[in-house]
Amino acid sequence: MKIKTDIVIVGTGIAGMFCALNLKSDKNVLMITKSSADESDSFLAQGGICVLKDEDDYESFFEDTMKAGHYKNNEMAVEIMIRNSPEAIKDLIDYNVDFEHKNGELIFTKEAAHSKPRILYHKDITGSEISSKLLMQVRKRKNIKIIENMTLLDIVKKDNNCTGIVVCNNDGQIKIVESDYVILATGGLGGLFQHSTNYSHLTGDAIAIAIKNNIELENINYIQFHPTSFYSEERGRKFLISESVRGEGAVLYNKNMERFVDELLPRDIVSKAILKQMEKDKTEFVWLSMKHMGREKIKKRFPNIYDYCLSHGYDAAEDLIPVTPAQHFLIGGIKVDLNSKTSMDHLYAVGETSCTGVHGANRLASNSLLECLVFAKRASKNISENYNAHTKIERQIDLNDYNDLENLKSKYKNIILNEIERKNSYNGQNNHETLC
Ligand SMILES: Cc1cc2nc3c(=O)[nH]c(=O)nc-3n(C[C@H](O)[C@H](O)[C@H](O)COP(=O)(O)OP(=O)(O)OC[C@H]3O[C@@H](n4cnc5c(N)ncnc54)[C@H](O)[C@@H]3O)c2cc1C
Repeated sequence: MKIKTDIVIVGTGIAGMFCALNLKSDKNVLMITKSSADESDSFLAQGGICVLKDEDDYESFFEDTMKAGHYKNNEMAVEIMIRNSPEAIKDLIDYNVDFEHKNGELIFTKEAAHSKPRILYHKDITGSEISSKLLMQVRKRKNIKIIENMTLLDIVKKDNNCTGIVVCNNDGQIKIVESDYVILATGGLGGLFQHSTNYSHLTGDAIAIAIKNNIELENINYIQFHPTSFYSEERGRKFLISESVRGEGAVLYNKNMERFVDELLPRDIVSKAILKQMEKDKTEFVWLSMKHMGREKIKKRFPNIYDYCLSHGYDAAEDLIPVTPAQHFLIGGIKVDLNSKTSMDHLYAVGETSCTGVHGANRLASNSLLECLVFAKRASKNISENYNAHTKIERQIDLNDYNDLENLKSKYKNIILNEIERKNSYNGQNNHETLC
């Protein structure tokens, strides 16, 4: 069986949804998602989203992003992201996204490695606020259709042209979706790791598919660990304790109740310091203290974190919280140009699964949601301006190759992990950092 559409977007996170909303309404857009439309990492984002709040902050925003990225960032991509941030935020506000404000003025917060407050937020559920409002808009559009519980298995190509995708329903039915353009917005790969803050269905499928189809990747071994996930012995996704908690003054203690790191250093440095301390103390976590904030502020500013800790036996206003680093973000990914186009024609990649080069070797907190929006909009604009429908679709694909889904899943996992390992050994890096 075959589905036909003009443009197919794989993924209903912020990147996929913002692409869909910025495509011309005379094109039929099909969005598919492996899970339900509201189960994406975009819904989990806590801390906030960066914005260039005034021209005076440009140099410092640029420098903070570069410094966190160890100056391996693509400078042009960083400039585009920062310069386009006010427009992206305006778009969100026009879609009724509610950022914290007082007397009509937006309020900015600060997170680790930011030299100034420049982060907009909604309590500690910024991602859910943005994503739910975008989803509402997407559902209103007549030209956009969402199919849930449909998994991308592969792309369809003819030479170096992408002509559609292979998908699978929950009932195991395999189909081809034919389209003029494919946009991959499949998020990260935390589901491949034992400890991750990501949804476990995010297993980097588009990355494996890119490797299989000789689509260029970049820095796939650059994987970010978040210093502070809630420590628990339960299996599955680890709950994140946002960076903004430390931005608001929370501190870390070792087992002897001594501070051991400047909590506001970039993520990679704080994560390494915690891992080192855990090894030294022979513990599985360190302690985070939010106590100085007082109950009222914690409950007002971090209600989601407060409730989660409480439901797991820790009162953040009185107790220390056990935390440990966990896989958090894919910094590298499918290599794209400044318009989010991949090395294959008619194929774009946006959001966490792509690599624009904005983050260099390490992402600055709250730059990810912004990157998703800015480069998703550029992808849509680029497609709309250069729209070129396929005249005749020829397939080079045998659907029988996809019958054994369990085998395919484990094959894709191995393809990705082998590539990460290959890149690590090529770069002479220590595998522990990415594969622990
Ligand atoms: C706990 C947490 C907190 C965060 N906090 C912040 C923050 O405060 N600020 C910030 O800037 N960033 C934050 N981030 C990072 C940010 O949320 C993500 O990088 C961003 O939301 C990624 O958006 P996305 O649209 O690329 O992917 P996602 O939102 O992850 O969406 C991926 C989509 O792809 C679909 N998908 C995946 N594989 C397939 C497949 N094979 N077939 C079909 N569909 C598929 C999924 O179902 C999903 O719909 C946080 C991340 C986490 C996990």
